[in-house]
Amino acid sequence: MTETQIAPSYTVPQQRQLVTAVPGPKSIALHERRTAVVSAGVSSALPVYIERANGAILVDVDGNRFVDFGGGIGVTTVGHTERHVVEAATAQLHDVTHTLFTVTPYEEYVRVAELLAQHTPGDWAKKSVLVNSGAEAVENGVKIARKFTRRRGVAVLDHAYHGRTNLTMAMNYKAHPYASGFGPLAGDVYHAPNSYPYRDGLSGEQAAARTIAYLEKVVGAEDLACLVVEPIQGEGGFMVPADGFLPALQAWCTEHGVVMIADEIQSGMARSGSYFASEQFGWEPDLVLSAKGIAGGLPLAAVTGRAEIMDAAQPGGLGGTFGGNPVACAAAVAVFEAIEGDDLLAEARRIESSLTAGLRSLAERFDVIGDVRGKGAMIAIELVRPGTRDTTKEPYPEAVGALIAHAAQQGVLLLSAGTYGNVLRFLPSLAVTDELIEDALGVLESGLATLG
Ligand SMILES: *Cc1c(COP(=O)(O)O)cnc(C)c1O
Repeated sequence: MTETQIAPSYTVPQQRQLVTAVPGPKSIALHERRTAVVSAGVSSALPVYIERANGAILVDVDGNRFVDFGGGIGVTTVGHTERHVVEAATAQLHDVTHTLFTVTPYEEYVRVAELLAQHTPGDWAKKSVLVNSGAEAVENGVKIARKFTRRRGVAVLDHAYHGRTNLTMAMNYKAHPYASGFGPLAGDVYHAPNSYPYRDGLSGEQAAARTIAYLEKVVGAEDLACLVVEPIQGEGGFMVPADGFLPALQAWCTEHGVVMIADEIQSGMARSGSYFASEQFGWEPDLVLSAKGIAGGLPLAAVTGRAEIMDAAQPGGLGGTFGGNPVACAAAVAVFEAIEGDDLLAEARRIESSLTAGLRSLAERFDVIGDVRGKGAMIAIELVRPGTRDTTKEPYPEAVGALIAHAAQQGVLLLSAGTYGNVLRFLPSLAVTDELIEDALGVLESGLATLG
């Protein structure tokens, strides 16, 4: 592959290029050092060690350039080392690095809360608390809902993923690898059916009726503090719920005094083609959780929602040492500005149409592609065993493993997802060009051809 001109806004050519085997010798050496000192409980999908990243490209220590369709799992939505984010964070590092907002506050925290109030769905007074991670946002959302409702029950949906802390591991669908052996798990957590049109064939109304029946029979609304839902399930496999499912659940929650919480940690911050994916389903949640893409790669998360619910928490009841760190907040303000200034919502919609068109045309030729789904830069294919697409839709996780390995050998980073491990997901930064998408689809096509 020839060296391309670097566009003025990029510091790394936006093109894949391999100069060694994958992983290369320097990555292999680093992996040996890592294995000696990093817990085996921390795994890496692709053990190539990254030295630089820019736009949609990762450069490893051996000089290989990968097209990144993982985006740090939906974090570098505005692009790796995005100029405005880097400048804002650098300036903030020099001004104030830390004070602890609960000791002496600063404007950047307030500005992020203003932007979240403005851009989360719902036309009502909203307030926020800023924390460090997605799981911590989930924990705080639940705390606030419990305090507001004076109830204990927490409901989640099947195939959900909410984090790796004690409460959130009880909220996940999969015990493996997230919870097994790590108990006792938190109590008062209930798992209700979701909407998974590809496999359940239900309309939004039917799926909501099934979920509500479960909540009424198994939990009882009077004991339920909150229902926590990802508008598009992330780790579960990018399930896009049937139309009407989410608003019907919100209507039921409102009627019964249950706080409905949107876990927009993966789907939020412009990725879906709107600021928050809930908007695309006509859903205005009581509380919205943000994390991942909010600060362009710096650790920040938030709970945002109806002021009367957010104010139920007693002073001192929320917060934490690093929550709403000034550098992370400055980066988040730059992310909001980049979304507006670079019209990133339109970029997300461009990526959706390029990726889905390409994947649908592959699905016409390869019957292992059972479903193509998602919104914006959050698109997945679900793989099924040959000959089962129109019948049993039997999950084909081995194909996902083979395709990911094939793509990595060609310089394309893809991720798996799905409860059955049979979903291949595309979670690129919004900087990914149509040329890079086409290039990656070509690599995927050659991988599909080898599956037989
Ligand atoms: C990643 C994720 C979380 C957990 O976020 P962390 O920052 O890893 O704690 C929670 N919910 C969803 C939907 C996620 O994708």
